Amino acid sequence: MPPHIPDCTSCGACCFGTHDRYIAILPEDVGRAIPPEALTEVEGRLFMTMKDGHCAQLTRKEDARLVCAIYDVRPEACRAFRAGSFECGRARAHRLPLAEAMRLPALPPNAVTEPIEKGPEADLPPAHILASVPKGRMKPPV
Ligand code: SF4
Ligand code: SF4
Repeated sequence: MPPHIPDCTSCGACCFGTHDRYIAILPEDVGRAIPPEALTEVEGRLFMTMKDGHCAQLTRKEDARLVCAIYDVRPEACRAFRAGSFECGRARAHRLPLAEAMRLPALPPNAVTEPIEKGPEADLPPAHILASVPKGRMKPPV
């Protein structure tokens, strides 16, 4: 039986990282039209700009998919990261909850944010949020 290969469009875990040098721009990326505003220079080297704990190009769509905003020109480091690989498994094991949290709908501005009364359910998001967690795909088709 072939190994299970996760669907990137329902994941996004490997786009999460806290280090500002998480995704380096490599010589292979010369000629790729990566927008300058997507890049950050650190000590003379270029990296993908990170924001809120993930690559700033990771974008939540209205249907709650997480997609790469520059998929066609994404850097070599991202292309080399294969779904189903050992590294992919590690990223999913450690960072999938962050991606799931990003997929949750934003609260409306007037939402009541007071904690729910005691009970084991108090740590869970409301049922309508759980019900809306998508089962779709993340990285866009080319
Ligand atoms: S390569 Fe792996 S960790 Fe990255 S988005 Fe795809 S399934 Fe998730
Ligand atoms: S460039 Fe795209 S694929 Fe690479 S880490 Fe950023 S969002 Fe993910």
